[in-house]
Amino acid sequence: SSEIQLTNLTYYYPDTDRPALNNLTWGVQRGEFVVLAGPSGCGKSTLLRALNGLVPEFYGGKIAGSAAFRGKLLSDFPERGIARHIGMTFQDPEKQLVMTEVEREIAFGLENLRVPQVEMRRRVAEVMSFFDLTSLRRQKTADLSGGEKQKVAIASVMALQPDVLLLDEPTSQLDPGTAQEILDLVKRLNEELGITVILVEQRLDRVLHLADRVTAMYGGEIEYDGDPSGFARHA
Ligand code: ADP
Ligand code: ADP
Repeated sequence: SSEIQLTNLTYYYPDTDRPALNNLTWGVQRGEFVVLAGPSGCGKSTLLRALNGLVPEFYGGKIAGSAAFRGKLLSDFPERGIARHIGMTFQDPEKQLVMTEVEREIAFGLENLRVPQVEMRRRVAEVMSFFDLTSLRRQKTADLSGGEKQKVAIASVMALQPDVLLLDEPTSQLDPGTAQEILDLVKRLNEELGITVILVEQRLDRVLHLADRVTAMYGGEIEYDGDPSGFARHA
């Protein structure tokens, strides 16, 4: 069934005369793993921002057309309410980590939502275990390796139990081995927990084998949308 549906979605950042997203009609099914590809500046990050409501709310600008989550328009969710269903991590985890300790960082979003203590501890322990962070729980986030920071960033979002995970180039700053470890964890979230994943990645060799589908953008439009093997031939 439908997880996300965009219909003729067009978006302009403030004071720009070319749309960053140009008349996109595009859907994602529940439980799909989609890789979002395309050259720098084609609109990948903007599309993720549109899916979790950062544009237009946070960036301003003009939007036309519609975006829906499970049939409900994103604009009908209360302020930032969509972020509980559609979680997002950013290319640079440094910008996302706000607390000094790993465990505090993972609990932070739940504290904001006023999740009761017992439930909060249970969820934090669960995600720390899934991401193999339990032994690092008292570590300072500033002292973590790049891969560990990325894991904490993803774990913090997963503690909120979203239905959809949006990942903006999660492995761009990592060595190949660490990158594969992170991507394998993302694949397990998708397969074992049924999380819908939309992942932006430059290094397609790292992710094509994990994806159900590839959507490639160019100049704010969708240039290819189909199976990964077809994309490999097309590219
Ligand atoms: P990406 O790797 O996603 O292409 P960029 O390096 O292009 O990211 O952008 C980094 C930051 O600068 C982002 O927050 C983005 O919104 C902002 N940015 C990118 N292009 C512009 C622009 N033309 N005007 C203002 N801000 C921009
Ligand atoms: P990608 O993630 O594929 O590199 P982006 O979504 O970052 O592409 O950018 C799409 C277009 O929007 C680019 O032309 C970029 O310069 C522009 N852009 C991105 N962020 C901003 C911003 N904050 N303000 C103005 N223009 C932006």
